[in-house]
Formats: sequence, C-alpha cells, structure tokens
Amino acid sequence: MKVYNTLSRQKEEFVPLEEGKVKMYVCGPTVYNFIHIGNARPMIVFDTVRRYMEYKGYEVNFVSNFTDVDDKIIKKAMEEGVTAQEISQRYIAECKKDMAAMNVKPATSHPLATEEIGGMLEMISTLIEKGYAYPAADGTVYFRTRKFEEYGKLSHKNLDDLQAGHREIKVAGEEKEDPLDFVLWKPKKEGEPYWESPWCQGRPGWHIECSVMSKKYLGEEIDIHAGGEDLIFPHHENEIAQSESCNGKIFAKYWLHNGFLNIDNKKMSKSLGNFFTVREISEKYDLQVLRFFMLGAHYRSPLNFSGELMEAAKSGLERIRNGAENLKHLSKNAREGQIDPKEQGIWEESQGFVAKFEAAMDDDFNTADGISAIFELVKFINTNVDGDSSKELLGNLRERLCQLCGILGIIAEGKEEILDVEIEKLIAERQAARKEKNFARADEIRGLLLEQGIILEDTREGVKWKRA
Ligand code: AMP
Ligand code: ZN
Repeated sequence: MKVYNTLSRQKEEFVPLEEGKVKMYVCGPTVYNFIHIGNARPMIVFDTVRRYMEYKGYEVNFVSNFTDVDDKIIKKAMEEGVTAQEISQRYIAECKKDMAAMNVKPATSHPLATEEIGGMLEMISTLIEKGYAYPAADGTVYFRTRKFEEYGKLSHKNLDDLQAGHREIKVAGEEKEDPLDFVLWKPKKEGEPYWESPWCQGRPGWHIECSVMSKKYLGEEIDIHAGGEDLIFPHHENEIAQSESCNGKIFAKYWLHNGFLNIDNKKMSKSLGNFFTVREISEKYDLQVLRFFMLGAHYRSPLNFSGELMEAAKSGLERIRNGAENLKHLSKNAREGQIDPKEQGIWEESQGFVAKFEAAMDDDFNTADGISAIFELVKFINTNVDGDSSKELLGNLRERLCQLCGILGIIAEGKEEILDVEIEKLIAERQAARKEKNFARADEIRGLLLEQGIILEDTREGVKWKRA
C-alpha cells in the first residue's frame, strides 16, 4: 500500500511502526458552530482510510480531538451570554450527529482539549527545561522556533523566508525573543476560561493540544497524522517542533493532508461565509450522497462543490443501489442449490473487480478509481445474473458488492433499522458495565449505538435515547 507523505512529497510504501497495527491521529474541528461540508471532507476521507486499513487487517487506533477552548468559542459564548463549555458541548453533540449521519465511525478516542490541560502543562515544562521554550514577563510561554533545527521540514519552508515575512509585524507589547517563536501558553483575558499554571492563569495555545493528546492516546511515535492541507503550516509544523523537541523521537511517520472543498474555486470557510453546513445539505440529500460525492475525487485534489455534481453523485449512488436491490429481489425467487460451473466462472471473474478496487485504494487511497471499479462490478453483475441464477451466486455477489461499498462507508442496501428492544437491551448492558466500572465497554456500546444513529443522553431520570 502506497501513501503520499507530505513530509517527503512522495508516495511511500506504508510500513507501520508495529506489525498489524496503525496509530492514527486526525485533527478535529473547533466546536463553535455546526460543521460545514468543508470540515466534513477530512472526516469522510480519513474515515475511509481507516476503513480500508481495517479491511486490510490492521487494527487501527484512531484518535480525533475536539478543540473546545479557542477565541471563537469564547466569542460565541459571550454573544450568547453562556459559558464556553456550554457552546463547545452543544456543538460537539451536533457534530457527532452529523458524523453518524455521514456514516463516519466514532473514533477510538475523541479527547477534548480542556480535559488534557495537565498533560499540556507537563509538556510545556519539559520544553522549558530542555531550553526549547521560555516564559515571558507577562506569563506567556513561547516556543523557541530556531532551536528546533528541523523546523520547516513538513511545509518545506525556509526559516529565513519566514523571517522576512515577519519583519514588519512585530506586535507592540509582545516579548518574544524572535518573531518566529509561537505561543504554548497564554495569559487569560477578562472573562475568559483559564487554568492555573506555573507561569500565569491562562490557557494553552492550539498547537500544544494536539501534541499532547496524540502522545497520551497513541504514544510518542505514531504512524499517521492527518488533517486538511491548511493545517500543514503552521499547525502541523509546530506540532512536530513541540513533540520531537520534547520526546526526542520522530513524531509521525506519514503526514496525510486532504485538499480543499471549494465553492467557485474558493476554499469553503466560515470566515468567507461561502459555506453550507452538513445539516443544511441533509435537508436536501441523503448524506450518503454527500459522502459519495466527496469520494468521487482523490482526497488530495481540490474539489468544487455544486448542485450538479451532487445530482450526478445521487444518480451514481442510485445505480449501485439498484444493482444491490436487483440481486436481493432476484434472490427471493431464485432456485436453491449450488453454483454450477458456469456460475463459478462468473464468480471468479467478479474477483477481478475487487482486485481493481484494491489496486486503486493501494495507490494512495484513490477512491475515484475505486468507485469506477464498483461501477464496473455493478455492470458486470447486471449482465450476468437473471431469474435462472442460483441463490448462492446472487448472495455471494451481493455480499461482494456491499463489502466494497462498505469500505468506502457507502451503504449499498437500506439498513434494517435497529429495533427499539435491541436499543433498550444495549442500554441496560451499558448501565451494568458502568456499575462494574467497565467504562471501556460502556463507551463501546455508546459507540455502537451511535453507529446506528442512536444518540444517548444521560439525565437525572436515567438514560434517554433518540434517533439522529
Ligand atoms: P477547523 O475547525 O477550521 O480547525 O477545521 C477542521 C478540519 O477541517 C481541519 O482538518 C481543516 O483543515 C478542515 N477544513 C476546513 N475547511 C476545509 C475545506 N474547505 N476543505 C477541506 N477541509 C477543510
Ligand atoms: Zn491538530
């Protein structure tokens, strides 16, 4: 399997640090609003990367954070007259609903920045001890960028060019030793959430959050670190500087970045106001169509969003679904009995499309070509089965088609809805697990239910649930 590594600007053979296991961290959203479909792109593409790795037999430990302390969250809280925590919790819950509706699997862990402050204080202290960071008189702690000799290795930027860009923007009152130094910890302003620290009452900078959460949940060295390409600089460059200076080890082996989702060739973003939320799109389309649309392009290419392309995705998805539906329908009245030699030939020939799909995905997750292979399989199925086909062949082909779609997180067949009694049973099991302090199992059950679009709410009167 080959993956394009931003670090080397080349496709490289994927070799995990530990055989059979993948440690993967994807930078998650800052939660102060509903997510837009630009934010959904990394969620969908890296969920697909995860699913493909799992299909290949890897055990994937997939960590994705929520940035729940940030200027934008605080601003929104002030506007609404509520706490920052109320804002972040509200939008984390909404984001999880959107993710479930896009069939994005819950991460193995979804850490919150505000729950990891202890680890951040520890890492900052280590960086100060090692001479990589320093507190200024006002309590701000800065990273000494020039001290990390490999700074710029991810974004392929040169320190002197960066320096030139900074020359004019020395901000009054800042006490940096060097304009390139960046913030690890900053003093609180009036009315802002804050934590105690050896340097001042304050809060962490954004970059340190990911270095710390990645280390805590995955260890000092990980296989894949991913996010949108806007995160390459400065966010990921700074994460590398912090983690490698602190731990003395290579932080991540492969750096994967998705291209932008654009509108009229401009990046979709909250600040430009040119966005659609996932929730808005869900009013017009099944979100499987959105997923199918996103995967129709290579994850590193820019992708323009338009109504026409969504309509094309919708009819493409229908073509696949009709193929699966047809197999189901034929199977109902099909003859019992086993595959005959002619059918055996059809079955073996259909393996060729799986090979084609895998070859596409092995080539840096080329989902666009993967989808073409699925279309070809559908066409092959439609021309090779009829009312005389055996139940076994129909069933096997259906499974093959659904499996390939499933790797992309595309549901080829309408799922049977999970029944209320099954939900209640799982909730009871979760309660029992919690009583026994088996929180891992309790969280797992919550995740399983979320995958089915069931959202749990722990209230004083007990657990309530609803369908997303
Ligand atoms: P943010 O909440 O802005 O930190 O973004 C969360 C994730 O969404 C990051 O990985 C961003 O790179 C990604 N992202 C934001 N806007 C877009 C876009 N228009 N296209 C693709 N990815 C995006
Ligand atoms: Zn990050």
